[in-house]
Parts: sequence; structure tokens; C-alpha cells
Amino acid sequence: MARRRKIYEGKAKILYAGPEPGTLVQYFKDDATAFNNKKKGVITGKGVLNNRISEYLMMKLGEIGIPHHFLRRLNMREQLVREVEIIPVEVIVRNIAAGSFCERFKAKEGTPLPRSIVEYCYKSDELDDPLVSEEHITAFGWAAPQELDDMLSMSLRINDFLSGLFLGAGLKLIDFKLEFGRLFEDDMVRVVLADEITPDGCRLWDIETGKKLDKDRFRRDLGDVSEAYQEVARRLGLTPEAGPRD
Ligand code: UDP
Repeated sequence: MARRRKIYEGKAKILYAGPEPGTLVQYFKDDATAFNNKKKGVITGKGVLNNRISEYLMMKLGEIGIPHHFLRRLNMREQLVREVEIIPVEVIVRNIAAGSFCERFKAKEGTPLPRSIVEYCYKSDELDDPLVSEEHITAFGWAAPQELDDMLSMSLRINDFLSGLFLGAGLKLIDFKLEFGRLFEDDMVRVVLADEITPDGCRLWDIETGKKLDKDRFRRDLGDVSEAYQEVARRLGLTPEAGPRD
């Protein structure tokens, strides 16, 4: 690890230069933040679990033809990914009202939406990730119209696929956030799924009890935060019974 050159340190991950050109190593930390960095904490074991959960979900999405940056998991906390140019837009897909959506529309948490709703936020800590429209994204050149089309169609396919996958694990996919990047390959550029897919960026509720098994347990001090991440991994069949170890 010490030999690696740090490229970027984010809230939950560190990016290092990879072993070959065009690759990066994503290191998953236990650190958690919420409310635009105003709340900080540590969720013990989260990095190990998220590394494994994201590996699994990216591989599954790859199997249905979603292009992504993931190459392979290296160890408990690190994965090798393709280097991409991150598009500064977060795509949020919502199936059920929760979080900021409820505040914005005075909606009751847990209300099913008439159809899946896609929202975009501009990635900017300084501006607190404001909600933006397709017009802002293309006018400011954050993404080209064709890139945005690709992001939208991939996000809807991902939502359909992951909703079914989680349902099979007794979990309801309430909403989630995706990030995409530009992959440059021999004079070609295409948009691929990037970042991570983990309970840090998804809301997952138990299908029977409605219990929250995601970062809302940290945001709202609901307790059993590590246990919730462990439960998601367990239901996806990803943890040995003894639980994760470093
Ligand atoms: N989300 C995220 N990062 C962000 C904002 C949102 O991962 O910077 C995820 C969040 O975990 C949830 C979904 O996107 O699954 C919708 O989040 P919302 O807009 O309701 O914001 P929140 O209430 O989480 O601040």
C-alpha cells in the first residue's frame, strides 16, 4: 500500500495509481459522512463489506451487458478498476419516496412512486450537490446529450435488474445513486458505470419488516449500523458465517 501513489482521497474511498497504465486501485475506508460532510463517523468493517458488495453487483451488471469500470478485487479492501474521467453528475433513481425527496414534496416516507423517477445532481461539495435538469447538464457541458441518453438508459436497466436481485434477497430497493465515467480506448470514448454500488449509496429495506439496512442507520443514529451492512452482504451470499475480517 505504501508503495502506491495516491491520486485522490474521497469521503469513503482512496484512489491509488494502478499497476498498469489506465488502471486505478480503489481502497474502501470505514469512514462515513452524511449531510454534506457535516456528520462524520466510522462504520467498523464497512470498507471490507462494500468492496465485496460492489464487486458482486458490478459483476452481475456486467453479465447483463452493462459496461463498468470494475476489473477485479485485489484484497479485502482494494479493487482494481479502469481509469475513467468521472462525469460530474450523480444519477439518482427512486422507486419509493425517501430522504430528500420526502422533504422536497412533503411526501410520506415509504410511498411507492407512480413510476421510477430519475433525478440528476451536479457533483459539487461547494454547492452541496444541487439538483439539476438535463438542460443544465448539456448546456454547461458536464455531459453531451448522447452521453446523458446512455446514462439514463443504463440507469433504468440497472434499476430493473437490481430491484429483482435485491428482492430475491428479501430487500426492497428504495432508491440509489450512480456515477458514470468516460472510458478512453484506442481513439474511442464510451460511458461506463463507475464508482461503487453499496449500501452507502442505496436505500434498502427489509421486505417483511421494513427495517432499514443502509446508511440511513448512520445518518439517523438508528444503531446497528455495521450489522446492517453485514446483513446485506450475508443476504447476497457474500460473507462467511464468521463475518468479515481484515
Ligand atoms: N445518495 C448518495 N450520495 C449523495 C446523495 C444521495 O449516495 O451525495 C444516495 C442516497 O444514499 C440515497 C439516494 O442517493 O440512496 C437518494 O438520496 P437523497 O436525494 O434522498 O439524499 P439523502 O436524503 O440521502 O441526503
